[in-house]
Amino acid sequence: MLYRKYRPQVFSQLVGQEHVVRTLEGALSSGRVGQAYLFTGPRGTGKTTIARIFAKALNCADFGKKGTILPCNTCEACLSVNNGTSLDLIEIDAASNRGIDEIRALKESAQVSAPSGGYKVFLIDEVHMLTKDSFNALLKILEEPPAHVVFILATTEPHKILATVLSRVQRFDFKRITPAEMVTKLKSIAQAEKIQIDDLALLAIAKSSDGALRDAEVALTKIRSMIPSGPIGEKEVADVLGLIPISYHPKLLGFLASGDKASAVALIHTIHDAGMDLEHFTKEFISYARSALLSRVNPTLSASIEGPEAHQQFSALNTIDNEKLIKIINTFTLARSQIKFSPIPQLPLELAVMSL
Ligand SMILES: [Zn+2]
Repeated sequence: MLYRKYRPQVFSQLVGQEHVVRTLEGALSSGRVGQAYLFTGPRGTGKTTIARIFAKALNCADFGKKGTILPCNTCEACLSVNNGTSLDLIEIDAASNRGIDEIRALKESAQVSAPSGGYKVFLIDEVHMLTKDSFNALLKILEEPPAHVVFILATTEPHKILATVLSRVQRFDFKRITPAEMVTKLKSIAQAEKIQIDDLALLAIAKSSDGALRDAEVALTKIRSMIPSGPIGEKEVADVLGLIPISYHPKLLGFLASGDKASAVALIHTIHDAGMDLEHFTKEFISYARSALLSRVNPTLSASIEGPEAHQQFSALNTIDNEKLIKIINTFTLARSQIKFSPIPQLPLELAVMSL
């Protein structure tokens, strides 16, 4: 699996979550380490990865030495975390260990100092899954944690965490990784693995992953195993992942911009005949048209959504004014809501094209 092989081992290898990394690095360099952290955010955005790097840095032989990059990944403590043999980092998956006995065992373990004499780090993943009793027991430990213990609680559902727990932790909200950030990472993996894949194909993978980098890396693994000899383009990605080629979006917008209704309707038929989901296509198309509109007021934002290449496509659309673009977005948003109830699925889209 590529995502395991290329899991970041130091903070500088991470993409996204700069706000989290900066604060944790600050804690490490000043030596002011908190005793309880809460990492919240969507799956696949780096919570466990960052927790492991932080845990490693805390017990790294270089910890406390000013100006050194942590973790070193060469000392014994670092290597044991990398091998999964560290006794100082205890990982608990609360989804399968949610009972009171597990938390009692955790409490006992927390009283015992770390074998290395450094920090003992407890990483509790999916912490919202703990039972009520377990949560209360955990809270007791968080109220008076032994000095050598650091808790990192991770969750995809922060709204399920009790306010009493929230008041005891330093909270970090992890963001979805943007497609542009993902492309950077996927590109570096592709280069290292000598995978022949073009930028548009990487962007298609990134956009299909909804902010979860791990999903994108899993998708890349899958595509490589299906097409081992390459080259991989957008079409191959769309075929393997069952996606609609993203080149269809600029194509349709281009037809609408130039008022070529015949080609627009023909494209809708092609998509439907190929067995693609029209509702899904329309959603993606609306998102694309929105980015085209955004690119006029905020090019940086639209580039982070659609990738830098999209800017050229957008500037080719300058025959179309803002007002028309807004009308297209509104018309297709309405059409999308009608697809489900239409006797002929492509009819609402055809009517949308005609009415523009
Ligand atoms: Zn080290």
